[in-house]
Amino acid sequence: MWQFQTDTAFQAQLDWMLDFVKTKVEPLDYRFPGHGAPYDVANRESRAAIAPLQAEVKARGLWACHLGPHLGGPGYGQVKLALMNEILGRAYWAPTVFGTAAPDTGNAEILAMFGTEAQKARYLQPLMDGDIVSCFSMTEPQAGADPKEFVCRAWQEGEEWVIEGEKWFSSNARYAAFLIVMAVTNPENPPHGRMSMLIVPTDTPGVEILRNVKVMGDDLAGDDGIHAYIRYNKVRVPIDAMLGLPGEGFKVAQARLGGGRVHHAMRTVGKCQRALDMMVERANSRRTQGRLLAEHQFVQGMIADSWIELEQFRLLVMKTAWSIDEVEAGRTPPVNPRTLIAMCKVQMAKVYHDIIQRAIHLHGSLGVTHELPLADWWGGVASLALADGPTEVHKAQVAKALLKRGAAAPGLFPSEHIPSRMGALA
Ligand SMILES: Cc1cc2nc3c(=O)[nH]c(=O)nc-3n(C[C@H](O)[C@H](O)[C@H](O)COP(=O)(O)OP(=O)(O)OC[C@H]3O[C@@H](n4cnc5c(N)ncnc54)[C@H](O)[C@@H]3O)c2cc1C
Repeated sequence: MWQFQTDTAFQAQLDWMLDFVKTKVEPLDYRFPGHGAPYDVANRESRAAIAPLQAEVKARGLWACHLGPHLGGPGYGQVKLALMNEILGRAYWAPTVFGTAAPDTGNAEILAMFGTEAQKARYLQPLMDGDIVSCFSMTEPQAGADPKEFVCRAWQEGEEWVIEGEKWFSSNARYAAFLIVMAVTNPENPPHGRMSMLIVPTDTPGVEILRNVKVMGDDLAGDDGIHAYIRYNKVRVPIDAMLGLPGEGFKVAQARLGGGRVHHAMRTVGKCQRALDMMVERANSRRTQGRLLAEHQFVQGMIADSWIELEQFRLLVMKTAWSIDEVEAGRTPPVNPRTLIAMCKVQMAKVYHDIIQRAIHLHGSLGVTHELPLADWWGGVASLALADGPTEVHKAQVAKALLKRGAAAPGLFPSEHIPSRMGALA
């Protein structure tokens, strides 16, 4: 059965969400600006402003929708989550208001999957309630895309783990109550079994934020960088601070990054849709050479390309979401969701780049100013192709998955060789 529609009851929820996000959440991006603002749980003014909104979301059963009912979420599944995340992608504050902000979503998932009961009570519950935020501390200054190059290590001393090393781009560490740190604990194992995850409360002695690194789009003045360069100076945590088993770090990281990547892709559909809406409005408003921009074929071409690319990307995201749901239901989809997630990761960066660029261009000089959100969104273009792993790594994963399905030609010539096929007819 093929279906491209949403059931009426859920569509009503989506309609409510879209109106709510547009009217009540998007204004928060201007009232409390800055990429780190939604994570700053110590800011009483912003927390007071979002509390009633979060209550509304909870009352409608739309809080923490990435989690199943056993974890306190409604458990709508990934297809519905994709439709919701499209709406949440419109505003920086929206994921926080709906209890689905990254990286906390991914951290909550691995705590739920691998955490002990004590770890869940201490970290997962307040995370899901939106009372604290968390940080995933994996990338190192000398290595990112290939975790096999990581050197931050941890060793056991009595009833404690001691962590020593440096981590780079640990987003939101400055606001986080705890860090999930990937460290080499079993150097004697094969590469994928050398690392483990350790949960470290951020105020543990020896956790030193060297600086909060800024990225494109952050204000150059002030101290608003959110990507921490951290040194772990012989940081001591109890033996039960390990998340998962010794040597399981890769497994835990993969479980987390898969969900994170597809959720980013879902939100990117929404951000691109908003940019496309802006293009349409602009084309219908602005005149040149005696006609509306909308009446010029170059402009029509930009709008058509953007819509076509967005529609294709959206279908890929929806299929990926459906495939994850199939696996959850105990069935085997035709393409492994991990491969589809890698496709989404690659395509997300490209579609976002192309659509935001066209939207800026169509708005002329106004497009490059900070008087529209486009310049800020453009700042995210390069990050989208890097965060959660660079494009090349995911392309290689996609290609390998397909190559594995194929085989070498049976003889000297390709199996589509026409003379050979005609010869076989004789
Ligand atoms: C906005 C943002 C937020 C982030 N948040 C976090 C976070 O919260 N926690 C965290 O731990 N990390 C985080 N990261 C880091 C992110 O995971 C890394 O940037 C990413 O894994 C790439 O690592 P790297 O930056 O060291 O680049 P490198 O690994 O040095 O790669 C640089 C380039 O080398 C090429 N390359 C790398 N590998 C291959 C390959 N196999 N084949 C071909 N070419 C290749 C690609 O062109 C790639 O872009 C974040 C990054 C960004 C941009």
